[in-house]
Order: sequence, then C-alpha cells, then structure tokens
Amino acid sequence: MSTLAAMTLSDRAADFIVDDDITRCLSLGPADPGKVREIIAKALTKTALSVDETAELVRADDPALVEEIFAAARSLKQAVYGNRIVLFAPLYVANRCVNDCAYCAFRRSNPHAVRRTLSSEEVRRQVEALEKVGHKRLILVFGEHPRYDAAYIARTVREVYSVRAGHGEIRRVNINAAPLDHEGYRLVKDAGIGTYQIFQETYHHETYRRVHPSSTRKGNYLYRLDGLSRAFEAGCDDVGIGALYGLYDWRFETLALVTHALHLQSRYGVGPHTISFPRIRPAVGTTLDPRWSVSDEHFQRVIAILRLAVPYTGLILTARETAQVRREALRMGVSQIDAGSRIEIGGYTEAGDAQAIEREQFTLGDVRSLDEVMRELIDDGYVPSFCTACYRQGRTGEHFMEIAVPGHVKRFCSPNALLTLMEYLMDYASPATRASGEKRIAEELAKMPEGQARQDVADRLARIRGSEDRDFYY
Ligand code: SAM
Ligand code: SF4
Repeated sequence: MSTLAAMTLSDRAADFIVDDDITRCLSLGPADPGKVREIIAKALTKTALSVDETAELVRADDPALVEEIFAAARSLKQAVYGNRIVLFAPLYVANRCVNDCAYCAFRRSNPHAVRRTLSSEEVRRQVEALEKVGHKRLILVFGEHPRYDAAYIARTVREVYSVRAGHGEIRRVNINAAPLDHEGYRLVKDAGIGTYQIFQETYHHETYRRVHPSSTRKGNYLYRLDGLSRAFEAGCDDVGIGALYGLYDWRFETLALVTHALHLQSRYGVGPHTISFPRIRPAVGTTLDPRWSVSDEHFQRVIAILRLAVPYTGLILTARETAQVRREALRMGVSQIDAGSRIEIGGYTEAGDAQAIEREQFTLGDVRSLDEVMRELIDDGYVPSFCTACYRQGRTGEHFMEIAVPGHVKRFCSPNALLTLMEYLMDYASPATRASGEKRIAEELAKMPEGQARQDVADRLARIRGSEDRDFYY
C-alpha cells in the first residue's frame, strides 16, 4: 500500500535557523574592506567560512569590493575544480501533489496543471531518449503524493538503471522529492541513488509559512529542515540542499544555506555534496513578490559568495537560467549544469521544440540541446564531464571528504572527465562538436605530466576511439 512517510524527526532534531541571528548579522552596516580581504584570503586557502565571515562578504556592496569577491571566486573555482563541468538532465516523473506551494504550478490548487504519473514503460522511453543523446546522469523529480512513496521512488530508480540503448546507460540517478522518513531513505539508498536533494525553498520562517499553507505536509518547516539529517541517520551520506531565490531576501537565504551546510558538517562529519539556488521562474497562475526578485548582479554575488564559503561543495545551476547567465555563473563557481532539459512530464519524447506551459512546473530559460551546450562549453575552454566514478566506487560522504584534497582532482576527476567526454564524442556528438572535443582532449592530455599515468589515460582514450569498449574510470 502506498502511504506518505510518517513525520518522525531525526535524533536531537532542532530548528537551527534563528532568523533574528541572521538578520542581526546582515544589519551590521557596510562591510569593512580590510576584513573582507582577510576573509577572501582565508577562502583562497580552501578553508570553509563561518556564517559571520560569509555575512561580511554578503554586506560588501561597494562595487570594487564586489569585484574582488568575484575575482577570488573565479580563482578558487579554477583551483578546486579546474575546467571540468559536470552535466546532467532532469527527468520529471510525476506531478500530482498534496501540497500547495504558492510558487509552483504543481500545487494542488492549480486547476490548469495537466496531472501525470509516468508508467514504468513511459519511464523507460524517456530514459532511452535521454541515453540516445548521451546523458549518463539524471535527477528524478517527483511531486509529493501517497502514490510516490519511497518504494515507488526506489522502483523507478531501478527501472532507470535497467534501461540500455546502444552504448547508452544511466550511471547515476539523483533524486529531488519530498523529505522521507528513515525507512524511506533506506529503501531509496538500496536502489542505488546518488544525491538526495531537498530544498528548504525559504529559510525565513514567516515567509515559509506564507507560501506553504500550514494545513499541508510541506507546511511543517522543521520536518523539512530536518529531512536530510534523517537521511544521514539512515545511511544516505550524499545529500543536496537548496533555496528558491525570489521568495525572500537573497542575503538571508545565502547565510541560511551556509548555516545548514555547517550544521550537517558538524553533526555528521560531512557537508552537503551540492547546493542549489534556483531563481524563481514564472509558473502558471502564480504571482511573484517583486520586492524579493534577485537581479542578475545579485545572483552572481550569491554564486561567488557560496563558492568562497564552501569550497568543496558542488554548486548546481539549472536551465531555469538563460544561456548568458549560465555562462557567467560557470566562471564564478558553478560546477554542475543540466542541458537539453525538458520539464514537461514525458517531454523527452512528446514535446516539440516549444515549451508547453500547462504541462510544466515553470518555464525554462535555456532550451538548447545537449550537443549545443557541449559545443559551447568546449569552445569556452571547459571539459564537460559525465563522470560518475566516485559514487560508483563508494567515494562519498566522509570518505569522499578525506580525499577531496588537491591530488583527488588530478588523479580521478580530470582523467575521468576526459574518458566520459571521449565516449560522448564517439557515440553522440555532431561532427562540429566532435572536432572541437577531440582538440580539447588532446590539449588536456598534453597538460598532464609525462609518464605512466598520462600514457594510461591515452591508452584508454584510444580504446574508446577504436573499439566498442566503454565505461573506463579511475
Ligand atoms: N515536490 C518536491 C519538493 O517540493 O521538494 C520536489 C520536486 S519540486 C518539483 C523541485 C523544486 O522546484 C522545488 O524544491 C522548488 O525549489 C522548485 N520550484 C518550484 N516552483 C518553482 C518555480 N516557479 N520556479 C523555479 N523553481 C521552482
Ligand atoms: Fe508540490 Fe514540490 Fe511543487 Fe510544492 S514545490 S507544489 S511540494 S511539487
């Protein structure tokens, strides 16, 4: 029988977001340039910042200081992540929802939403379509509904992993769904999920209450805030947090995200694997509060500040944003983006080029194909990566943090990025993308120190190019 998770909390669950403390940090007046520079210097040593230090960066409004923050973020991004960008696609599985979030087209009171739950056969067809263009990493998205309990999510994950189209396969499935109870997390972990994402939407209590009616499950702030603590207790040590920017003050949400990350780090020894910071988009029948709309400049500040505050946490930016905003955000600190995304349910096989708003949760800003995005990334000097090695080798959580030290990127991430890029070029790329990509791989290989390690990567690349062998990773 399908049921919604019981609303049990984690051990020692507590509401660790104190609005007044955050507001006080933000009201201390203009930042002290000397302090800002000291904090930047600390961040550049790849040390996570405290909430107070992050607040100092948030309060730096002077354009010259903001420019220094941007420059530092770009340089830290390069130092920690190099030029790799991880690519994924969202798969919207089911949009029935018992909640009534004011900003979301899936809310139960929206009469215009076309409700749909993909059957397992339909899931397979979507996944085949995604594999056929070259995707290897998906995030499955669900509304909250008794039909979409943990057992259903786990079954869907297994279905996705079982689909093979030619050389295509999905090697990592992440989840964005409602918070679960302990047993629920165990079920989805057993199905082999990667990251479990839950966005708090807004950390500001009063705003949270306003946009999430108290009569709904999502109306329980603490149950949601505690959602990923329960995941840790149930053995899921790979989690993603997020805030929906545009509901309340961007400064507040940024400090709250850092507070949440530090809370998980101190309680479970591991911070979140990723942070998402979607900007709210127009959705059917929703009105946005213009007071809190986040300008492009403030949005880039959010990214730069998060980059400096949590150097080893992946920053995810989705196709909600336009191609131009995404381009700048990548330089500033974003490490993962989606591409070729369709967010209508069934959209990978059924939608034409136009977006069908009554089928969507919101509208997208970047609807280019995966190949177009790959081409632009390569031409901009990046190495697009479909790597899934860490999670498949059990390098997650505490173990991952231990090796998230400088040598890790050189030993694992960079070669794996090249190997997965070569697979893409051989199996899916347009001729133009393939030509650019092969050039980039040759350049990257030439940057590696001469020796056995480089030779080994070159040999594996040659096998992908010259044979049907795939899925090599370090
Ligand atoms: N139903 C689950 C939940 O609410 O956590 C997960 C799926 S929900 C479809 C995924 C995320 O989409 C939400 O957490 C929210 O941040 C985001 N979202 C909802 N409405 C949006 C809008 N109008 N613009 C941008 N993002 C939106
Ligand atoms: Fe439902 Fe999630 Fe949309 Fe809220 S954000 S209405 S919980 S799908």
